[in-house]
Amino acid sequence: MVAKHINEQRYAVFGHPIKHSLSPRIHRHFAEQTGQKAMSYTAIDVPAETFKAAVTDFYNQGGKGLNCTVPLKELAYDFADDVSARAQRCGAVNTLMFKDDGSLYGDNTDGIGLIRDLTVNLNIPIQDRTVLILGAGGATRGILEMLLNETPKQVCIVNRTQSKAHDLAELFAGLGYVTASGYQELNQQSFDLIINATAASLHGDLPPLPNTLLADNGYCYDLAYALEPTPFVKWGIEHGADISVDGIGMLVEQAAEAFYIWRGVYPETRLLIESNLLKQKQ
Ligand code: NDP
Repeated sequence: MVAKHINEQRYAVFGHPIKHSLSPRIHRHFAEQTGQKAMSYTAIDVPAETFKAAVTDFYNQGGKGLNCTVPLKELAYDFADDVSARAQRCGAVNTLMFKDDGSLYGDNTDGIGLIRDLTVNLNIPIQDRTVLILGAGGATRGILEMLLNETPKQVCIVNRTQSKAHDLAELFAGLGYVTASGYQELNQQSFDLIINATAASLHGDLPPLPNTLLADNGYCYDLAYALEPTPFVKWGIEHGADISVDGIGMLVEQAAEAFYIWRGVYPETRLLIESNLLKQKQ
């Protein structure tokens, strides 16, 4: 990339659509909390076709770093000059940083964001537990490595398009016991933790789940988040989950990790998650 030195501390999230993104609210809160007055953070609608030009423009206008969301994470991975090991494993980047030499560094903070929310904020045990992931898209790809690092007894991936679940199970097999399944094979099985990483909640839908799927004292976690409880969060509550929550905590934690990569300061996250700030209409 062409180097250009403008002393402005601009950050943004790129995505399409992006109107409802909570990231500006979160990063402005972090900047205020850590006293970084010169930092700005905006949401910019960038379709895939114009992604590369938009990144270069942003840099030339003094941009320091970017978050990338749907549908740009794979493009960001391809465009970065250098990526972290965790981004390499999942082939997707949600955090870009412009380095002093003008090169572009990419990382993926989704997995660590989920694990921090599960283990630190919610105190949900993973070690030696059985985990079911619903869905085999980009989000599942992004969380698998960090999840397997917590040494669960088993991670089973179930997906509508079964071949995608098998491909992911194969790709991550070296990191732990990962299996793949179709929804119809789930009868008679139960899991300690069920993570919904499908896009179903975004459309008010719920994948077909047998009533016996959640083990006693189990947990449900929906990566999707909304002002009201998602269909999967409701399913968890109705099926006796000890905890059944949406992915707002993961969103805040992945943002905190990105903020740390850019600014070298780790913001406090818990109060923001526990406050109702992000559940209020923008
Ligand atoms: P993708 O489009 O990459 O994958 C979507 C997945 O959902 C696929 O496995 C797809 O199955 C499945 N799916 C879609 N609709 C249904 C349905 N009605 N029933 C069953 N399965 C369905 O999306 P992502 O992986 O990027 O995102 C998944 C979710 O995770 C989204 O809700 C997103 O908002 C959330 N997310 C939250 C984050 C956070 O910080 N909280 C971070 C990243 C993602 P198939 O392959 O058969 O089409």
